Order: sequence, then structure tokens, then C-alpha cells
Amino acid sequence: AVKARFDKVTKRFGTGDNAVQALEPISLDIAENAFVCLVGPSGCGKSTLLNILAGFEKPTTGQALMDGTPVRGPDPRRGVVFQQGALFTWMSVRDNVAFGPLATGKPSAEAGRIADRYLEMVGLTAFAKRYPYELSGGMQQRVGIARALANDPEILLMDEPFAALDAQTRELLQEEIKRIWQSTRKTVLWITHSIEEALFLATDIVVMSARPGRIKARLAPQFALS
Ligand code: ADP
Ligand code: ADP
Repeated sequence: AVKARFDKVTKRFGTGDNAVQALEPISLDIAENAFVCLVGPSGCGKSTLLNILAGFEKPTTGQALMDGTPVRGPDPRRGVVFQQGALFTWMSVRDNVAFGPLATGKPSAEAGRIADRYLEMVGLTAFAKRYPYELSGGMQQRVGIARALANDPEILLMDEPFAALDAQTRELLQEEIKRIWQSTRKTVLWITHSIEEALFLATDIVVMSARPGRIKARLAPQFALS
């Protein structure tokens, strides 16, 4: 089944002489349970494409769809993880993760149980009562991933979540995200400019090229996990 679809999506920023054509018509299907990596040089439109599916940006023409329904704005069914955690600094790790379930009306005891489950999944049970600033960059990204998963999204949209981390931490988290994906089979759209990361993680690799952004190739890695 198709989980998400870009249907002839274009994006133009600005007007007149200052206009930037960020995306040529992009049509792309993301299958349910796929792990799609979007790779390409800086400025080729990867974030713009992800932001359109997230509902943060509107396409200039065309549309993004989820389960056949046009995306109209942000929605907890699409979990987003950014390059830097974007965590609530004034909340404990556990409260950060419980925030989504609470906001969607779960009683606090249940929201807490959900938070504990995902903190365990990312190996941070011992840090539940800590605050984001007490954690390393890698640990903060783990909290971001737990927080996204706690909303039980239908798709995870991850914009270079490990880009700010050192090589060793990145490798560790790649292993973790692979394990989490293997156990949840959550549909993922993942941006990276590391082809190695894409080869390690993806069931599908979509290669983009710049000026203006378009899809250059689509590959199914030989060692696909699916
Ligand atoms: P990538 O994620 O592949 O690095 P982006 O999607 O961030 O690429 O950007 C694609 C193009 O659109 C770039 O030329 C960028 O400068 C431009 N762009 C992105 N966001 C904006 C914006 N808000 N206003 C104007 N131009 C933008
Ligand atoms: P990560 O690989 O998650 O970025 P680091 O490499 O910075 O973490 O740290 C390695 C280990 O050191 C962590 O898994 C954790 O057990 C411990 N650690 C890191 N930061 C802290 C902290 N602020 N308090 C206690 N232990 C920490």
C-alpha cells in the first residue's frame, strides 16, 4: 500500500527576480513500512520536500497526500525529528516524551507509561528525570526520536537527525534506529547526505539533484532490510 505520495509537487520561494525554484515537479510514492532515504547535495530541496509532507510548507503546485488524503497542515500522525532535538528545555526527559500523548488527551498515568516504554526503547530509562541540557547531543536526539514515536505516528519524517553528531555516536544511533525500525516497521522518510547512511538504513534510496530540485534516481539497496 502507498502510505504517502508526492503528486507533481513544485515549490517556488519568493517572487520576481528573487524567486527560487526549489522543486521541479516531484512525483514519488512512499510505500507503507518502507524506509526511504532522500539523498542529494545541499540545496537540492530535500528539506522542502519533507516539510511539505509534514505540513510545514505548502507546495506551489501539486500536493502531498497521506493515505490518499491531501496534507493540509501539521498532524500528530506525522512524527517529525529535526537535526537538533527541539526539546522543551524546561521539561524533564520523561515529560518531553509524555507531552504528545498528554496533548492528545491520554490520562497522565498512561502518558507516563507510554513515555517509559519509548525511553526504554532508546536506552534512556535511567535519564527520565534529567533535563535536556544535562544530556549529550546523541542522547538528546534519542529523546527526540522517543518523543516522535510516543505519538504513534503513521510515518516518521527525519531531517538529518544525526548530522550534528560525531561519527562514533552517529554510527551507534544508526544501529539503534535500524533495530527500532526492524521491530516497529514504521514508515520512514529520512534525509541524509551520507550515501553510506542511506545504504545502511534504507529499503529505498531516492537521489535528488539541484537547481532546480528533481529526482535523479531511485535505488533499492542490495542489502535492503525489507
Ligand atoms: P536541502 O534540504 O536539500 O539542503 P532545501 O530544501 O533546504 O534543500 O532548499 C532548497 C532550495 O530552496 C535552496 O535553494 C534554498 O536556498 C531554497 N529555500 C529553502 N527554504 C527557503 C525559504 N524559506 N525561502 C527562500 N528560499 C528557500
Ligand atoms: P551519546 O553516545 O548518546 O552521544 P556520549 O558518547 O556523549 O553519549 O556518552 C556516552 C555515555 O556516557 C552515555 O551513553 C551515557 O551513559 C554517559 N553520559 C553521557 N552524558 C551523560 C550525563 N550528562 N550524565 C551521565 N552520564 C552521561
